[in-house]
Amino acid sequence: MRIDVVSLFPEFIAQSAAVGVVGRAQQRDLLDVHGWNPRDYAQGGYRRVDDRPFGGGPGMVMMIEPLQACLRAAREADARPAPVFYLSPQGAPLTQTRVRQLAAMPRFILLCGRYEGVDERVLAAEVDAEISIGDYVLSGGELAAAVVIDAVARLQDGALNDAESAVQDSFEGDGLLDCPHYTHPASHPLGEVPAVLRSGDHAAIARWRRMQALGRTWLRRPDLLDEAALSKADAQLLAQ
Ligand code: SAM
Repeated sequence: MRIDVVSLFPEFIAQSAAVGVVGRAQQRDLLDVHGWNPRDYAQGGYRRVDDRPFGGGPGMVMMIEPLQACLRAAREADARPAPVFYLSPQGAPLTQTRVRQLAAMPRFILLCGRYEGVDERVLAAEVDAEISIGDYVLSGGELAAAVVIDAVARLQDGALNDAESAVQDSFEGDGLLDCPHYTHPASHPLGEVPAVLRSGDHAAIARWRRMQALGRTWLRRPDLLDEAALSKADAQLLAQ
């Protein structure tokens, strides 16, 4: 898949997309991330991309012309249609369900705002949806874009060395939180690894993990249980 990112700091996007799972996904030709700078499409000696808000008030607003020209160039760089998603604290909160939808798309464009944001007319004319990564305000959309790209990259077939690990992650599969994990050493001043995990009894291990996932979800995120795919056995475990 291909993700184009329109940002005043494309170097941030390039750097964050070069490492870890995202970097590996690019090396494996599973994902192509391209940065586009609206400043390259701005007119005049100063290549101005922002201006004062009409009506007064603090801050600057990203201007229509450079953004439109930049979005057009990004769109035309590949023949496949590309919906545009604006990273915004006012957008729909990003969830794993939304990430799965994005991960299944052949391509999309992420638009990162700065300052007070983007001229509203760009949003009305060019943007298909707005995505928020949480109820707090960042200085720019680049970190939010990096979050989207990372979450989408790890769902590409072959991006993770062990495909099973994505299936077992929190929110995936049955919609529960993940169980706790331990590694060597089995014995440490910080504590012992639960004996069942060293028993070699796969059925007992699976049951223990399921109980842990159910218990954690019940304690930490009981809201998830309403939507989780629970079996009769799960319901019995929860009732205990
Ligand atoms: N004035 C805007 C508001 O209150 O809705 C906030 C602008 S913010 C300082 C600058 C840019 O950061 C936004 O245009 C957006 O692209 C990005 N941003 C900030 N918080 C975000 C969040 N929670 N999720 C996604 N993007 C965010």
